[in-house]
Amino acid sequence: MRKIRYVTNQLNTMSHDEIIQYRETKLLNQVKYSYRNSEFYQKKFKEIGVQPQEIRSIDDFRKLPILMDKEQERQSQAESMERFGHPFGMHLCCSPDDVVMTATTSGTTGIPTFTYTLAQHDLNNISSAVSYMMEYGRVSPGDRLLFNHALGIYATSAVLPGIRKAGVLPIDVDVRAGTAAILQYAKLTKPTAAMMTPSLAEHLIQKSPEISGTEVRDLQLSALFTVGEIAIGIPEVKQKIEDAYNCRVYDWIGPLAGTLAFSCDSDEYHGMHCVTPDFDLYPYDLVDPETKKPIDIVDGVIGEAVYSSLDKKAVPMLRMGSGDIVQVLTKECPGCGFKGLRVKVIGRSDDMLIVKGVNVYPAAIKKVINTFIPEVTGEIRIVLEQAPPRVEPPLKVKVEYGYGVDSGRLPYLEEIIKRALSQEVRVNPEIIWCSPGTLEKSLAKTPVFEKNYHA
Ligand SMILES: [Zn+2]
Repeated sequence: MRKIRYVTNQLNTMSHDEIIQYRETKLLNQVKYSYRNSEFYQKKFKEIGVQPQEIRSIDDFRKLPILMDKEQERQSQAESMERFGHPFGMHLCCSPDDVVMTATTSGTTGIPTFTYTLAQHDLNNISSAVSYMMEYGRVSPGDRLLFNHALGIYATSAVLPGIRKAGVLPIDVDVRAGTAAILQYAKLTKPTAAMMTPSLAEHLIQKSPEISGTEVRDLQLSALFTVGEIAIGIPEVKQKIEDAYNCRVYDWIGPLAGTLAFSCDSDEYHGMHCVTPDFDLYPYDLVDPETKKPIDIVDGVIGEAVYSSLDKKAVPMLRMGSGDIVQVLTKECPGCGFKGLRVKVIGRSDDMLIVKGVNVYPAAIKKVINTFIPEVTGEIRIVLEQAPPRVEPPLKVKVEYGYGVDSGRLPYLEEIIKRALSQEVRVNPEIIWCSPGTLEKSLAKTPVFEKNYHA
């Protein structure tokens, strides 16, 4: 099994403590830089009554309040538009003339925010990480990579320069061009790798025979990189896609502050490996999604990821609340031996429920229930009698039992599912059995709520 390494070579010979030291120095420099170069951060530090030089360690830093969120980013952007005629926000730390790339996230509501605003230095960092991901996936110079995301102003465009840096030719067919166009370009250009969302990968499995008369395995890809959904983390989804394409799927994530993480070449999914601890503090800073109090980083801990850049010139993030719920794994990867931090995406803080004071994530419930397939279908609903996050116990979960499961077996099945949920998610739910096929199939990879209250 090929071991994943850090992108910056120097880190590969450092001990755990040396890496923390290194990150700490970079963080303190980033704080000073951001303060010196943006009115936004000057104001922020004044508001919280802290001088940047009073922050002497990562621990000091993690005790600061959340300094930025999506709404504040939007306000910061509105202010820079009004005062300086650019949309990059008051937290822009370089001259707008030095911005070489800007991108927004697709699919969010409201005014788009130019979160992915990059100076050349920032783009170089991202590109070296993406290029390493290509190398790890054995996509090498001369190869072609079918790239099917929304192009142009959207964030995934920021990885194209890294693909080129690896000597790989992106065949960038905008996902909005449609399935037939994507398959046609694939046929014409013979890519050896592809990059798309897991749901598009699944969609192509079904559509390829109908549209082009061939199976997706006939594309003969050697690597598929997927991003953006909790899918590959579900063993049967990973298996289904890998079997259909007859190649390894690498699940990757490029969170806001500048990092990159991806999964290793293992049959089993061991989370995304954070290969750039020198670009970003992620995922070394978690808070409780409700109280925003810091959570200690121990193996398996779950919390809201707080983004902070360590090496950004254009728009550094400092303690940005993300709403992204992740699980952090600190032990050596059982698959490849990577020693750094790994993350699994659990869901969004908006989905979080609180049952008897315990934070419960629907995606975590679904994950446990999925381990009982084929005795269950995997389709579930969480029944809410009142507006979340608080739930009057017991939490009610509708679960479809599998096709052909004898009803006499259900009491036993219920007991072992409840035991697993109690151990792994610390919740003791009421299971409501539904016959297979009665719950509408949810397309999203996270479970759907059934709301029995009026908002
Ligand atoms: Zn690994």
